[in-house]
Amino acid sequence: MKKFVVTGGSGFIGSNLVKFLLRKNYFVINIDKLSYSANPYNLKRIFKNKNYRFFKQDINNQAQIYKILNRYKPNGIFNLAAETHVDRSIDNPRNFIKSNILGVYNLLETLKKYSRENKKKIRLVHVSTDEVYGDIEIGKKSKETSSYNPSSPYSATKASADLLIKSFVRTYKLPIIISNCCNNYGPNQFPEKLIPKLIYNIINNKPLPIYGKGKNSREWIHVIDHCEALLKIFFNGKIGESYNVGSNQNINNVSLTKKLLKIAKNKSLKINKKVKIIFVKDRPGHDFRYALNSNKILKKLRWKTKISLHDGLSQTLDWYINNKSFFNSVSKKLYINRIGLKAWLKKELF
Ligand code: NAD
Repeated sequence: MKKFVVTGGSGFIGSNLVKFLLRKNYFVINIDKLSYSANPYNLKRIFKNKNYRFFKQDINNQAQIYKILNRYKPNGIFNLAAETHVDRSIDNPRNFIKSNILGVYNLLETLKKYSRENKKKIRLVHVSTDEVYGDIEIGKKSKETSSYNPSSPYSATKASADLLIKSFVRTYKLPIIISNCCNNYGPNQFPEKLIPKLIYNIINNKPLPIYGKGKNSREWIHVIDHCEALLKIFFNGKIGESYNVGSNQNINNVSLTKKLLKIAKNKSLKINKKVKIIFVKDRPGHDFRYALNSNKILKKLRWKTKISLHDGLSQTLDWYINNKSFFNSVSKKLYINRIGLKAWLKKELF
C-alpha cells in the first residue's frame, strides 16, 4: 500500500485531499500544526481509520518531521501547510514568511537529509497558487513560463517558496514538482474566504459583503478536481516542472455572488430581504484578475476538471446546509481578533 504524507492536512484543501487519498486506498499521514484555519470537524469521521495517522507538528521542526518520515518511509509528500488568507498577510506578513518560506526551506532541508541518510528520495508535490503571477490583463492568461509578479505578502511568500524549490531541484536534485492552482471552493473551507462566507451569510440572513465594486475576477475550481490533479501530477508530472491547474471558469465576484444566490433560491431556501450585496472598502493592492493557461496539464497529463461551476456551487451549498455545525466549530476567537470586535458585534460580516 502506497503511503503519502499530507502537510496542512487539517485545513480546507488538505482535509479534502486526505479523504480523497483514503478513498483511493492509500495510507495517509497528516502533519499539521493546527493553526486557526485547521478544523477538527474536517476530519472527525476518519480519525479512527486504520490507514490514517495524525501528527500535530510544524513543518519548520526539522527533527520531528525527519522522525516521522523515517518511521513511515512514505512514497510521496503533498505540501499544503501554509498561511493562506491574503487579508491576514496584509495585517501581519511575519507568519506568512515563517510558514510559507521558512517552512518550505526547513522541509527541503529535511528531505535533503532523508535522501542522504536513506539513500532514497521522496517525491514532493508542492501546492502553490495562481496568485504568484499577479494581476493578469483582460484577454491574457498566465503560462508556467510567465514571470512571477506577486502583489500581496501572501503571494510573495508563495512565489519565494516556488523559486527556492526550483533551486533545490537543480542544485540538490530533489524530486519536486510544483502545482499552481486557481481559487478552490468546496466543503471544509474556513469561512473568512469568499464562498463559505457568502454561504454562511445567505443561510443566516446577513448582507453579502463584496470588496470594491465587485468586478475583480477569479478562476474557480472545485477542490476535488484539484485533488485529482495533484495525484496526476504526483504520478505523471515531470520533476522540476510546474503545472498550472485551472478550470477555465472565470467569473467576477458580483456575478459569482448572484449565481450563488440564484442556486440558493432554486433550492427553495428562504432568503430574507437583508441578504443583498453590500460593497465594502477594497483590500489594498487587490489584484483585479487571475487567469491560467492550463494547456500543459490538459495535454501532457491528460487531466481535466469534471465539475462545472454551477454543479460545484450547488453541491457546496448543500454541504454547508447539511453541516451547519462546521461553522460552530471554527475558531471564532481568532476570527474575531482579526476582523475586530466592533465588526463582530455589528455581525455584518459573519
Ligand atoms: P487553509 O488555511 O485552509 O489550511 C492550511 C493548513 O496548513 C491549516 O490546517 C494550518 O494549520 C496548516 N499549517 C499552516 N502553517 C503550518 C506549518 N508551519 N506547519 C504545519 N501546518 C501548517 O488553506 P488551504 O486553502 O487549504 O490551502 C492549502 C494550500 O493550497 C496552501 O499552500 C495554499 O497556498 C494553496 N492554495 C490554496 C488555494 C485556495 O483557493 N484555497 C488555491 C491555490 C493554492
